[in-house]
Amino acid sequence: MSGLEGGCACGAVRYRLTSEPLFVNCCHCFDCQRQTGSAFVINVLIETDRVELLSGAPQPVEAPREEGPPQRIFRCPDCQVAVFSEYGSPDVRFVRGGTLDEPSAVSPDAHIYTRSKVPWVTLPDDTPSFEVYYEAQALWPPASLARLDEVRKLRAARDA
Ligand SMILES: [Zn+2]
Ligand SMILES: [Zn+2]
Repeated sequence: MSGLEGGCACGAVRYRLTSEPLFVNCCHCFDCQRQTGSAFVINVLIETDRVELLSGAPQPVEAPREEGPPQRIFRCPDCQVAVFSEYGSPDVRFVRGGTLDEPSAVSPDAHIYTRSKVPWVTLPDDTPSFEVYYEAQALWPPASLARLDEVRKLRAARDA
């Protein structure tokens, strides 16, 4: 799954994922529905330094959420398509799966916020789903947890 490429609609922003993702969430919350104008978003979680920008400079726009601080959504400055976003940590990107050249290259590892899932979306039995969220420690592969630990340590070292 590494080496996946994607971009915006006009082609100004192009990116490449330099490794496989940490985890893939399919989020059915109201915020994601509103931001995408759709039923859910596919968030491909990966370290920021593993999203190689091949061209363009996605610009952050702050979008209010129902709870918590605004979410930073990075958009193509020309066509305004959102290519990734940030929730709290600048070290992890939530790449929007629909912007991959082959969106079918990723599939959800978990469905979250199913309490607001639209009723006409039927979830597969073999993918864990959660009314709200889950404990990453219990669900993420050990290698992904180790990678997350690593970026947190680097951040702590930089901030010290
Ligand atoms: Zn564009
Ligand atoms: Zn969401």
